[in-house]
Amino acid sequence: MDGAAVRGREKLACDVAVVGSGPAGASAARVLARAGARVIVFEEGPFARFRDFPSDGFTAMAKFYRDMGASVLMGNAPMPFLQGRAVGGGSVINGAISWRLPRDVYDEWVLNDPAIGDAIPWDEIDAATDEIEKDLNVLPTDDAVAGPNNLLMAKGAEALGLEHRRISRYTRGCRGLGRCLQGCPEGNRLSMDLTYLADACAHGARVLSSVEVGGILVRDGRAAGIVGRASGGGTVTCEAGRAVVLAASAVQTPVLLMKNGLRHGPVGLGFQGHPGTSMIGWFGDPVRVWTGATQGHEVTGMRKEGLKFEALGYDIAVAAARLKSAGRAFAEEIRALDHWAAWGACVRAKGRGRVGAGFGRASVRFSLLPEDVFRLRRGVRVLGEMMLAAGAEFVTPGVHGWHDKVAQRAVMARFEEEGPLDPRAYTMVLTHMFGTCRMGADPSKGVVRPDFRHHAVDGLYVADSSVFPTNTGVNPQTSIMALATICGRRIAAGTGQ
Ligand SMILES: Cc1cc2nc3c(=O)[nH]c(=O)nc-3n(C[C@H](O)[C@H](O)[C@H](O)COP(=O)(O)OP(=O)(O)OC[C@H]3O[C@@H](n4cnc5c(N)ncnc54)[C@H](O)[C@@H]3O)c2cc1C
Ligand code: SF4
Repeated sequence: MDGAAVRGREKLACDVAVVGSGPAGASAARVLARAGARVIVFEEGPFARFRDFPSDGFTAMAKFYRDMGASVLMGNAPMPFLQGRAVGGGSVINGAISWRLPRDVYDEWVLNDPAIGDAIPWDEIDAATDEIEKDLNVLPTDDAVAGPNNLLMAKGAEALGLEHRRISRYTRGCRGLGRCLQGCPEGNRLSMDLTYLADACAHGARVLSSVEVGGILVRDGRAAGIVGRASGGGTVTCEAGRAVVLAASAVQTPVLLMKNGLRHGPVGLGFQGHPGTSMIGWFGDPVRVWTGATQGHEVTGMRKEGLKFEALGYDIAVAAARLKSAGRAFAEEIRALDHWAAWGACVRAKGRGRVGAGFGRASVRFSLLPEDVFRLRRGVRVLGEMMLAAGAEFVTPGVHGWHDKVAQRAVMARFEEEGPLDPRAYTMVLTHMFGTCRMGADPSKGVVRPDFRHHAVDGLYVADSSVFPTNTGVNPQTSIMALATICGRRIAAGTGQ
């Protein structure tokens, strides 16, 4: 159903109303629909058929990213944070990288709050992840579609003796068109709209697109439904007999709670993310970052230090935006655009921020800690050294106040001591968000219980990465899906209702 067609007052009823159709909402909805519940999923963004995904990055951002990709978080290093806003959420515009929840991250959570281990046993996460990997055909990127940007990263990592591998992705029949971040034009990336939401619908669920949920109905201390505003101008009220599941992301879920006066526990506090910085390097032979698997290779050897490196495919227009000269020099750089490689470093930052809901809109405050900046500096150094070791003639680190171009590894190696400590000097973007409605047995420390139930309102659940006690240091979609699947199972089993 398309909310663009809803102009009057639409009244609906279901067993479970799910807010948000990204990996979290789709996973919970699927389990519940398969268990026989009448499920309706409400999604603020539009539904897109894969043939409609545009080839240029800026049009894709305007259509399928929140705030046209221009959301910015404030703190000691203001940076954009990117989120999908479409049926399928971030899964329709992301890099398709799949990582299992690392066991060491889970162990940290359980050490801190043993009730999490009792409510969500590791074996259940492990088994749910096996199923997700099977359903989404998660396999290492095929060499045939990797393309030079990814292959060069393997060469650089090998030269530095760092553990590396082809990225495992949820694709089928990927032809290396390099358009994941705009939406795969052939439906080869197995996003939620094509998989778990379709499966939920095959089991009776409905998805209502272009409806922004603003109200959570609570009666006698129990969640009773939702109220939403359709893009067509109408309103939608849905009574939910069994549960309301919030899966609107770690930024929008706390905003929804706060907007409805549900300020119990540390709601909005404890925001964590993975700030990422990128570097470009110039190679003698063409690389064409806009071709090949968008993100097909990663360096995993420094994960336990809180650093992960990934090859980054860009649309040609986005790649050009990275160049900083003007006039004739800019024309020269554009002419040689196909010679640039682009890779990123992702930092497991220890800093915690907060999400606010001033005027009903999300605002995010987040600052890097000094130790995060040291980690970032190390990441930039390794990225540069790796690119030069892979054969780059020079790299541009993109760090204000430092060398614009570096051609020698020895110079790049000095970055770890010489690089700026002011985080504003770095070019960063954040795409993974966590921790704003943390789970915890103690109601003063958790917004939801370790079984995803809200501490203060019965029948209200949070299924997205808001509930994660910390960030994970790896790409989160698969762990979000595993936990949301378990959340759906708990609701289906009726535990704690
Ligand atoms: C460019 C980019 C690349 C990424 N690459 C990867 C990757 O390769 N691998 C990986 O693991 N992760 C990646 N991520 C992160 C990953 O996509 C997210 O972690 C994941 O999508 C989060 O899932 P979610 O269901 O919690 O939230 P989302 O995917 O954000 O879905 C939430 C949905 O809820 C909707 N919504 C919000 N508020 C409301 C409301 N009030 N009413 C109705 N609907 C609402 C939103 O429009 C959205 O569609 C990437 C993210 C981006 C932006
Ligand atoms: S790399 Fe290209 S073909 Fe492969 S999934 Fe991404 S957009 Fe689709």
